[in-house]
Amino acid sequence: MKIKTYVFAKRTSPNRHLTRWLTNNQVDWEYGSEEWGIDVARNQTCIRFMRECPDYTHMIMLDCDIVPDASMSDFLLDPDEDIMWASYVGRGSEGHVDTFGAGACRISAGVLRKLSESYRMPFRFTYNETADRLLDCECNHFAREATALGYVPKQVGCVGHILPVVWYPKDGGRVHVMPHELDAGQLVESQ
Ligand SMILES: [Zn+2]
Repeated sequence: MKIKTYVFAKRTSPNRHLTRWLTNNQVDWEYGSEEWGIDVARNQTCIRFMRECPDYTHMIMLDCDIVPDASMSDFLLDPDEDIMWASYVGRGSEGHVDTFGAGACRISAGVLRKLSESYRMPFRFTYNETADRLLDCECNHFAREATALGYVPKQVGCVGHILPVVWYPKDGGRVHVMPHELDAGQLVESQ
């Protein structure tokens, strides 16, 4: 098993938790494409992986704001699975709690070769007919294409997702954390 990891970060670096995971596990990593949007960046990175890493067996994709937990080490240990992903909560959207998410995933070279035999690369946003509404993210499109070929994405636990929040003091020991109002005591307890 030989794995290349790509971190997706636009003009920034992996967060410090992810940096520690990459360093502690001696992960062979580089930055993914910085192209915009993320569907194009993922496709470009898949093409680069196939072109530059012909002797590698898998690629890992990690968004720079993902915070690994112990379960993510399965990405480095399990040689057999073709598609693995760790669930995470999204930024203002539901994210990928129950469905394949590309923000923290591992894909085998075999899957990529098979998918690239079709007429286009697998990461693609889905829009409505008039193209004024985004219906689905690029991860779900990838999962549908792979599932149609008989692959079954395997979930391997969950990872954290760093999100920016703004805290305002409120009466009664509460904190207004946009867009929620939470009990400050509970927040401290749960740390
Ligand atoms: Zn997605």
